[in-house]
Amino acid sequence: MSPTDAALNDAIAAINIAGYAKTRNHLEGKVTRLSPYLTHGFISMPDLFAQLPKLTLNDKLAFEFGWREFFQHVWHRSGDAIFKDMRPALPDVHYSTALPEDIREGRTGLPVIDRAVYTLYETGYLHNHARMWLASYAVHLRKVHWRVAADWMYGHLLDGDLASNHLSWQWVAATFSSKPYLFNAENVAKHAGQVWHCPRSVIDTSYEALEMIARSQTEVGIAPSLMGIDEPALIATPSVSSAENAVLTGAQRVRLVHPWMLADDDFDGLRLGVIHLPFHQRFPWSQQRWDFVMQRMQAVTDHVFVGDVKELRTILAGAAEISSVATLNPGYRELLTVLCTDLHNLPRQFPDPETACRSFSAFWSRCTAKTDDAPRRSWHR
Ligand SMILES: Cc1cc2nc3c(=O)[nH]c(=O)nc-3n(C[C@H](O)[C@H](O)[C@H](O)COP(=O)(O)OP(=O)(O)OC[C@H]3O[C@@H](n4cnc5c(N)ncnc54)[C@H](O)[C@@H]3O)c2cc1C
Repeated sequence: MSPTDAALNDAIAAINIAGYAKTRNHLEGKVTRLSPYLTHGFISMPDLFAQLPKLTLNDKLAFEFGWREFFQHVWHRSGDAIFKDMRPALPDVHYSTALPEDIREGRTGLPVIDRAVYTLYETGYLHNHARMWLASYAVHLRKVHWRVAADWMYGHLLDGDLASNHLSWQWVAATFSSKPYLFNAENVAKHAGQVWHCPRSVIDTSYEALEMIARSQTEVGIAPSLMGIDEPALIATPSVSSAENAVLTGAQRVRLVHPWMLADDDFDGLRLGVIHLPFHQRFPWSQQRWDFVMQRMQAVTDHVFVGDVKELRTILAGAAEISSVATLNPGYRELLTVLCTDLHNLPRQFPDPETACRSFSAFWSRCTAKTDDAPRRSWHR
């Protein structure tokens, strides 16, 4: 995936709304691969909808965009509480806070898991179904706490988004849903090509049997393979040098461009990319994520500042106007609020309902209540 508007426009032009609805659950289905561009704010959701005039709220694709906005809504309402269990975990299960090496190295011996890990490391992208399978296996069959595994997956994804990722892991774990998400070999065979299949394995069983495993301390037996893949390093600092303070002081109008607002817009002033290192020490990224973000940031800004954004308070002290787009990413969130004289929100297609929604169905009903084409469907993902 290339961090350019041309690549984004190609992805939008390739969208097949009807084909998406029919095939999105299959690993080879007509999914959009828009997530890295949406996560990094190359385009806002309303601008994307404007480019898809045939998309209606009855379409599966609009519904999935709704899931993204629902997770943003929950993050907006709950803040850093999304990093802890949103509701009590399954009773009587103790989860480990370490991700086993055989999962990390893609050598569990289960093709569906090992291929998912390999694909994640190679491409920085995973189909939604593969993410769900990997999460379900780690949490329910191997008893890994969702948080440690969510942090790991987040770091390797090009689209890693703390709300969509951590709340999806919680949804699978049943700390943000009413039941654990489980899958079996038959489900994999239905939605993935043969190389992913796992006949006669621990997941080749009934949902009742899987449910009993998920709700007990039972861990499934493993037959790790010797061949695996080395986990790419997760890195806290990008390999670009920071702008000299001298070129920043004296600027009158400054736009701070952070990793979640990488749209290329006209701005008559200094466009300053900002990388706030304390955030990245807490949530490091793979080299390919850094490359994606930094190539784009360098393309849409005049300079990039790498360090503790607190330092910018002195460096930019003379600026009459400092503007940016708000983000909920911890560290960036607080500092931008203090630094900016003009901080606006990234527009949403489905703005926050007045009261907090704890479920997607509540959110979607409220977002679509007054429209003529409100969807009639059940709330499956
Ligand atoms: C364990 C797990 C972790 C996830 N982590 C992330 C993450 O870090 N960042 C992220 O953007 N999404 C995440 N998702 C949601 C979803 O898997 C991805 O958004 C989707 O696979 C991205 O591929 P796509 O753009 O081809 O999606 P498409 O199927 O083409 O969907 C179009 C867009 O709709 C949104 N969308 C689709 N499905 C979902 C969903 N289930 N939840 C939220 N938004 C959705 C995304 O913005 C996506 O780009 C996660 C899901 C799971 C189960």
